[in-house]
Amino acid sequence: MVVLGIETSCDETSVAILKDKEILSNIILSQVEVHKKFGGVVPEVAARHHLSNLPLIYKEALKKAKIEPEEIDAVAVTYGPGLIGALLVGLSFSKGLSLRYGIPLIGVNHIIGHVYANYIAYPDLKPPFIVLMVSGGHTEILKVKDGKIEVLGKTMDDAAGEAFDKVARILGLGYPGGPEIEKVSKNGDPYKFNFPRPMLDSNNYNFSFSGLKTSVLYTIKNLETNIPVPDIAASFQEAVVDVLLKKTFKAARNNGINRIVLAGGVAANSRLREKAKILANQYNYEILIPPLELCTDNAAMIAMAGYHKVLEGKYDSLELEAIPNLKINS
Ligand code: ATP
Ligand code: MG
Ligand code: FE
Repeated sequence: MVVLGIETSCDETSVAILKDKEILSNIILSQVEVHKKFGGVVPEVAARHHLSNLPLIYKEALKKAKIEPEEIDAVAVTYGPGLIGALLVGLSFSKGLSLRYGIPLIGVNHIIGHVYANYIAYPDLKPPFIVLMVSGGHTEILKVKDGKIEVLGKTMDDAAGEAFDKVARILGLGYPGGPEIEKVSKNGDPYKFNFPRPMLDSNNYNFSFSGLKTSVLYTIKNLETNIPVPDIAASFQEAVVDVLLKKTFKAARNNGINRIVLAGGVAANSRLREKAKILANQYNYEILIPPLELCTDNAAMIAMAGYHKVLEGKYDSLELEAIPNLKINS
């Protein structure tokens, strides 16, 4: 079975071809250079770039996979959550293909797509497992069990990736902030500043990162000059990683599940990956982390989520709409 995956929810235009469980191509065009000068993604600009780039990326993905359009059995496309204009480009393109070639359409939730990146990296993965889903717009602990995905906890304000991006801006680092903070942190002391670990001991699996960001801001204001950027970045990163992992392992323990998977762009963070492995070793948990290129946005994960929907016979009609604030389980 050949599944075409299409992803345009934010600032990556991506098309992938999945044959059975194998990724034949996964072409990703990031617009990061375009949005860099604005310090963040400009929705209108993102949509226009998807519109001009998607047909080219589509052709490239088919060529690399050596697949003809007539061989495609299903087209899986992100229909939310994301930027409305950006989503509409991918969805409309997919509807066009569906009509032209008579291929069934499958709408995929982008966040569930991030989780499915793990099924590419670990083909034998089976539920139950706990997911730490950390990206630019989402921070959630999920429980995948008995064919269901349950949200155990989520952020009350900023997402982890958003906190990285905002703190990078405060520190005068580039965009996107996550990789920049990770880079300068390598020369910093993670224990130099004892930043707050918000909601660490709260009696739930929720997070809050906006207070941590404010704490970084005040630390800089109080120092006035000679700001030790690497130490602040490393200490901030340590605080985020600490809270994310402690709560995830707590959720796993309390739910009697000993397999934990990471997903989303922040899962590319080397400190998070390293500490997750250390903790898993220490407490005897299995930890699965996708390779870097499958953590950030890509269409292979969308194709893989679509493949599973095909197996369950879950198709969508051409009336499928883009839903910017699409929730899990809706
Ligand atoms: P969402 O998936 O919630 O819709 P998104 O698709 O924009 O949002 P992703 O592409 O999954 O998010 O991830 C992008 C985010 O990941 C950005 O906030 C970025 O700063 C962060 N990120 C990427 N690499 C790293 C890293 N090495 N360390 C920390 N954060 C990172
Ligand atoms: Mg992106
Ligand atoms: Fe994403």
